[in-house]
Amino acid sequence: MIIDCHCHAGKGDLLTGPWDTNAAIEPYLKRARAAGIDKTVIFSPFHSNYEQANANTARIATRFPDRFLCFAFVHAQRDKGRIRQIVEWAVTKWGFCGIKAHKMDGTATREVCEVARAFRLPVLYDVVSETDIIDLLAPEYPDVNFIIPHLGSFHDDWRAHVRVIDQISRLSNVYTDTAGVRRFDYLVQAIERGGAHKVLFGSDGPWLHPALELQKIRLLKLSPQDEALVLGKNLLRLIKGVGKSQQQRVEQKHKERYAKGVSCSARSPCASNRIA
Ligand SMILES: [Zn+2]
Repeated sequence: MIIDCHCHAGKGDLLTGPWDTNAAIEPYLKRARAAGIDKTVIFSPFHSNYEQANANTARIATRFPDRFLCFAFVHAQRDKGRIRQIVEWAVTKWGFCGIKAHKMDGTATREVCEVARAFRLPVLYDVVSETDIIDLLAPEYPDVNFIIPHLGSFHDDWRAHVRVIDQISRLSNVYTDTAGVRRFDYLVQAIERGGAHKVLFGSDGPWLHPALELQKIRLLKLSPQDEALVLGKNLLRLIKGVGKSQQQRVEQKHKERYAKGVSCSARSPCASNRIA
C-alpha cells in the first residue's frame, strides 16, 4: 500500500498564491491513481479560519470513502487557547489522525504539543527553515512524533536540509517527508543517516505532481522493506495509537451522552478510512 503523507485539499479563503487559494483534489486523485498511490493524508491549504477549513477537509474525505486520512490544521497563535477544542472536534467527530501546523502562521507552541500528546497525534510541522525549534520541541515532548516536511525547507534551503538530516538521526521522535525536496542527495543522506524508518513519502499535492514525487523514492533504490517503510508503513506506525485512543474517546463520549439521554449519530468520514 502506498500512502502519500502530505497533500492539501479544498479552498483557502485568501488570494495571495496557490497555497491559500485552491487545492483542487480531483486532478490530484487522477494523477495519484495513475501512479498507484492508494491513500493520502490531506489537510487544508492556508486559511483564515481553521475550524471551517477542517470541516471542509472532512467533507472532502466523506466524498471519497476509504481514500483519505485527515490532519487537523491549527494556527498556533490565532487559535491559542482553543487548540484542544479544535483538535478534539476533528478527532472525535471526523476521525482525524494528525495535526498540521505551519511556521508561516506561527511558531509551534506547548499548547499544540500538549494537545498532540493528549490525543496521541503526530504533528506535521513546517518549520520554514527555522529548525532550531525542533531541538526544543522533540526532547520536551518525547512521546509526540514530529514530521518535518520538505526536509526543513520547501524553498530549497540546503542548510535546513542538513540540520533536519542531523535531527532525524539524533532525535527518535523526529521524522521528515520528501515533498518538494529538489536536491536528491539530501534525500539519500536522510535515508543513510536517519534511516528509512524516519523518512515518509509526501507529494505536497495537488500543486506538485504525486507521480513525480513518487519517482524520487523509486530512484533511491531502497530494499523492498525500506521502500515499504517510506511509502506508507512509517505513516501507519505514527497514527497507530490514534485509532485506539480515539476509539476509547468516542466510546467514552457515547457513554456520557447516553447517560445524559442524548442520542449521538456523529459520522466519521476519516474514521471509516482508517486502516486497521
Ligand atoms: Zn504542503
